[in-house]
Amino acid sequence: MRKSNLMKYYIIGLTLISFTALFLSLNSSGDVKQLKQKLSQKDEIITQLKKQIQEKDKKIQELSQEKEALVEKLKIIEEKIKKANKTLKRKGIRIRLPQGGRFIPAEEGKKLQLYADSLDKNIDKLLKVMADVPIGVPLYGRITSRFGYRRDPFNGRRAFHSGIDLRARYKQPVFATANGYVEFAGWSSGYGKLVIIRHKYGYKTYYGHLAKIRVKKGRWVKAGTVIGYAGSTGRSTGVHLHYEIRRYGKLVNPLRLLYLNRTNSF
Ligand SMILES: [Zn+2]
Repeated sequence: MRKSNLMKYYIIGLTLISFTALFLSLNSSGDVKQLKQKLSQKDEIITQLKKQIQEKDKKIQELSQEKEALVEKLKIIEEKIKKANKTLKRKGIRIRLPQGGRFIPAEEGKKLQLYADSLDKNIDKLLKVMADVPIGVPLYGRITSRFGYRRDPFNGRRAFHSGIDLRARYKQPVFATANGYVEFAGWSSGYGKLVIIRHKYGYKTYYGHLAKIRVKKGRWVKAGTVIGYAGSTGRSTGVHLHYEIRRYGKLVNPLRLLYLNRTNSF
């Protein structure tokens, strides 16, 4: 081999080595740059995540506060249900409220839902009882004669009045005061045209002196159904409704159930 050839190879080799070194150095500085970039990106992500966690923590705190307030509200509702039940008991209506009403810790979200559901069921039951018991007025009119002893409007003698009289316009609608079955619909001496409705809990309501009867015996009526129209049939001195309540055969003063006043209120 000639000396000049050897020199040529030497130069070529050197050039190759330096190029490779340059390439490698360029490449490695690119790697570092990329790594730095990636790290800063990760830092940013971490900061964002931390921020998100803080926001979530705040939300959780707010929610737990809301939950506590909700539990307090539910407890108040529970007390009201108990009070309503007591009022009914005072009136002699004993009902068994659906299970529940026991306080359940707020931490147990699912049980809190069950607690609310049981209160809801209790309210439904109370509403049903309210519709089954003759509470309220059968006709909008002034009371002209109360329950108990009074002077008889026909002969002036002391006599027992078995219900209350409500002043009415001729053919003013008369409503059933509770859900029940029509036990009687027809003429009865003294009462004139009379409707008797049999309700739950031993109650019966009487609607007397009607001008017209709108229901037939055996029919199921809902509270608020128009059962007839006011008149003056039977032993009556003028257009009015004679309204009477009996419980297990005994006369009850309708005033006790007529209004949801201080003594009747829930
Ligand atoms: Zn009367």
